[in-house]
Amino acid sequence: MKKIEMKTPIVEMDGDEMTRVLWQWIKEILICPFVDLKTEYYDLGLKHRDETNDQVTIDAAEANKKYGVGVKCATITPNAQRVEEYHLKEMWKSPNGTIRRILDGTVFRAPILAKGITPYIPGWKKPIVLARHAYGDVYSGVETKVSAGDRAYLVVEGADGNVREKLLVHDFAKGSGIVQSVHNTDKSIQSFARSCFNYALDVKMPLWFATKDTISKKYDHRFKDIFNEIYEAEYKDKFAAAGIEYMYTLIDDAVARIVRSEGGVLWACKNYDGDVMSDMVATAYGSLGMMTSVLVSPDGNYEFEAAHGTVTRHYYKYLKGEETSTNSVATIFAWTGALAKRGELDGIPALTDFAKKLERATVQTIEEGKMTGDLISLFRAEGIQPKKLNSKEFLQAIAEKLA
Ligand code: NAP
Ligand code: MG
Repeated sequence: MKKIEMKTPIVEMDGDEMTRVLWQWIKEILICPFVDLKTEYYDLGLKHRDETNDQVTIDAAEANKKYGVGVKCATITPNAQRVEEYHLKEMWKSPNGTIRRILDGTVFRAPILAKGITPYIPGWKKPIVLARHAYGDVYSGVETKVSAGDRAYLVVEGADGNVREKLLVHDFAKGSGIVQSVHNTDKSIQSFARSCFNYALDVKMPLWFATKDTISKKYDHRFKDIFNEIYEAEYKDKFAAAGIEYMYTLIDDAVARIVRSEGGVLWACKNYDGDVMSDMVATAYGSLGMMTSVLVSPDGNYEFEAAHGTVTRHYYKYLKGEETSTNSVATIFAWTGALAKRGELDGIPALTDFAKKLERATVQTIEEGKMTGDLISLFRAEGIQPKKLNSKEFLQAIAEKLA
């Protein structure tokens, strides 16, 4: 069989621990036998990040910007324990954070559905895709403890250094407490809005956006207004042509509607709502190993990855020579997402077609009862006794199906 040729390389960002092991196997067993794989390789494994003083992460993100499509393996975000374990020069920042800052993107997370794996919310028949604004709010908040008798103000200074506004937050005359101040920028909210509208058109899904604008009449209301202005001016006609809708509602109403829905919705969330709700949605669909994630920048760069981490616990077993049964589905879908997008951008339908076939083969393998340990207890299908495969056997079963 002749292998599928590629034109532009995919930016390949290798990672850490168990997912680094799976990464190699996925290429060997599922991709390279069929595709003449062209990548520009960046080793984001913690050891190499340390050796390059994290420059490799910046280079990879810049390459992603240059070529438009990247695929990333899960990576360790170092904490104090990792600094010791890897003898690091510094506690390097989260690579995902660095890449997000450089690409200025929005993160979209979507579950992979397979018949037999029933979501904890059985009414969910179609995927719910969650878009999380990855900038500002409480994640770059400023906060402090205050003592009894203190008064806390929100002060805004003009460019000339003069105080333009001074608002009393609270008079703590009656006792001590806490204060917090958060911000966002119009530019970041605008990018977020456009990424969401573009993605909805890409996947032809209705878009929901929700905040608490009834309570937060300036802050959350600004989000609502920006989305609305951009929708009216740039997207209303495109949405009508695609037969999809944009709906704005309150966050509590959105949560209630999501639970009652059958899925099939792109749900745009402010940073904190997205953080919390993406874990709720991922868990409700079954397993972290079945959740994909893609970072989309407003100027059309894509970085595909799995939503889960490096699965450390399984890696330590692997190092001891013990058998692991780690779910590679989300990492496979990161690759297929990148290959399909590359095929689309370069006009290579065979590449896009291959990616879709690999996705189908992966899902069918599970539907026929062959899966990794995390899915076994969730699987219910008449007449099929699920079989637990180890990490490599699962990939080999997919390869057989694919062939
Ligand atoms: P994790 O790697 O996602 O794993 C947490 C647990 O979830 C695992 O121990 C495992 O449960 C289950 N799990 C996750 N993915 C699975 C898969 N593919 N197949 C089977 N089970 C899976 O999270 P973590 O242990 O909190 O973090 C480990 C490292 O990953 C950390 O160093 C963190 O910095 C990093 N991380 C990276 C990213 C990223 O690069 N995007 C994201 C999150 C975390 P059982 O042990 O019960 O089997
Ligand atoms: Mg979270």
